[in-house]
Amino acid sequence: MGEYLWLIWPISIGIGLIVIGGVIASTVRRIRRSALGTIVNAVSRELQRNNGSLDQITLNQDTGPKSLSGMNETFKPQIEKDFPTLNIKELMSMSECLLQSYFEDIDTDNQTLRHLRDVEREYKFKNGRPIPLTPSLMKNISMEKANNESERRKPYFASVRIHRTVINHYSRRAATAVIVFQTALEYLHYVKKNDIVSLGNPDRIQQVRYNVEWLYVIDESKLNSSETQALSLNCPSCAAPITSISSRNCEYCGVSIEPIDIRLWRADKIYTI
Ligand SMILES: [Zn+2]
Repeated sequence: MGEYLWLIWPISIGIGLIVIGGVIASTVRRIRRSALGTIVNAVSRELQRNNGSLDQITLNQDTGPKSLSGMNETFKPQIEKDFPTLNIKELMSMSECLLQSYFEDIDTDNQTLRHLRDVEREYKFKNGRPIPLTPSLMKNISMEKANNESERRKPYFASVRIHRTVINHYSRRAATAVIVFQTALEYLHYVKKNDIVSLGNPDRIQQVRYNVEWLYVIDESKLNSSETQALSLNCPSCAAPITSISSRNCEYCGVSIEPIDIRLWRADKIYTI
């Protein structure tokens, strides 16, 4: 017995090392799962992305994609019943495409690449098909761009990533039907005024939610004044408002007008919520 006594030391040291190893491993696991670990992981990820440069580190402080209030189960059957030939999935991806185009359009850097005055730019979907917008949305986008320019505001949109889109609402009135899609996305968005950041953070990816409302004219004879306004065009010659979407001639100067194709879903509103 006595001759094996010397074995106590290596054995207890071995057991000790195993215990210490286990404690360290579980502590590391716990830290990794904790808030501190999330930060450490984010920093190391960013370090890898920026090739080890520390001054470019972005810490994503938002916790993840925004939750959506989607009612696909409620509204989808109603839409399918009212519009059996409508491809809802396609309109949904058109909605996502519109958001991307809209950010590109508002972004000042992209504007300098194009003609700055090219305000009536067409938004294109797959195969170069134009995304139909109501005249009212076109006007709002043009106004937004003109206001930015006159107030020397430069909005930037980068790293846009769409997460998901759901049907948020559907309503049908006498003259029109409206589908609202809600999209969760992330982007790097900030606004510079006189070269100083006046809104947002250039180092922070934001998680946001956008609604896009799509409008369809079911019965043009029942349109109320605000609906007519949303769809109204201005005369290309004298800029007078055109009150009826089926008019062939301007009421004021008599110039002939292309009647607008109303058998189309048109994007009517874009807003963040
Ligand atoms: Zn006219």
